[in-house]
Amino acid sequence: MSAPRIGVLALHGGVAEHGEALAAVGAEPVEVRGARALPRLDGLVLPGGESTTVRLLAGREGLVSGLGELIAEGLPTLATCAGLIALADRIEGGEEPLVGGLAVTVSRNAYGRQLASFEAPLAVPSLGPPPVEGVFIRAPRIVAWDERRVEVLAFHGEDPVLVRQGDILAAAFHPELTDDRRVHRLFVDDLVGARGTAAAIHDPLAEGASRVRT
Ligand code: GLN
Repeated sequence: MSAPRIGVLALHGGVAEHGEALAAVGAEPVEVRGARALPRLDGLVLPGGESTTVRLLAGREGLVSGLGELIAEGLPTLATCAGLIALADRIEGGEEPLVGGLAVTVSRNAYGRQLASFEAPLAVPSLGPPPVEGVFIRAPRIVAWDERRVEVLAFHGEDPVLVRQGDILAAAFHPELTDDRRVHRLFVDDLVGARGTAAAIHDPLAEGASRVRT
C-alpha cells in the first residue's frame, strides 16, 4: 500500500519538523497552503505557532471552512499546540472558535509567565513506557472537556495534554520537537491507518476541489 498522504498546514509554525516526523513513520507529508490542496489527503496536521497569526492567514486563504468540513467528515487530524486552539470548540476570554470540532475549552498561554516554556515527562499509558517528553511552548491549557466524547491519553498534573476524539488527536505540547515518534506513529498507524487511503475513500469525489466550499 502506498504511503498515506498527510497534509501539513503550512501557514506558520513547525511545518518542517512535522514533515520529518511523518516521513519517519512512513507517511508522505504534503504542505497545505490553500483549500485546493485539501482533496485527496489521508490525514491532516495542524502545527503549532501563534493561533492569532493562523487565524489571520487561514481566514485570508479561505481555509477555515474547508478544513472544518473535512474534519467534520472524519479526516484524521493531528493538532498540536496552536492547532489544538484552532480545533477547540471554546476559547476562554471571548475569542471565537477558529475551526472547532474538538469538545474542549482552552485557555491560551495559561501556564503562567515563568512556565512559558517547559518540558515535562508525560505518562501515556496507551503508548507504554518510557514517558513522552512533553515540550510546552506558551501552551494552551485544556480547562474543560466533554468526557463522553474526549478520551484523555495523557495528563500533566490535572490537565489533559494529549486527547483523542474519534479521528482527532490533539496535543498541548510539541511531539514534533523531539526524536520520539510515538505520537506521530499513533496518528498514522491508528487514526489514518484505520481509514485506508484517500484514493479508496474519496475516489468518486477526487475531481473536486469544488466540494470544499470556501
Ligand atoms: N501561544 C500560542 C497561541 O496562543 C500557541 C503556542 C504554540 O503553538 N507553541 O496561539
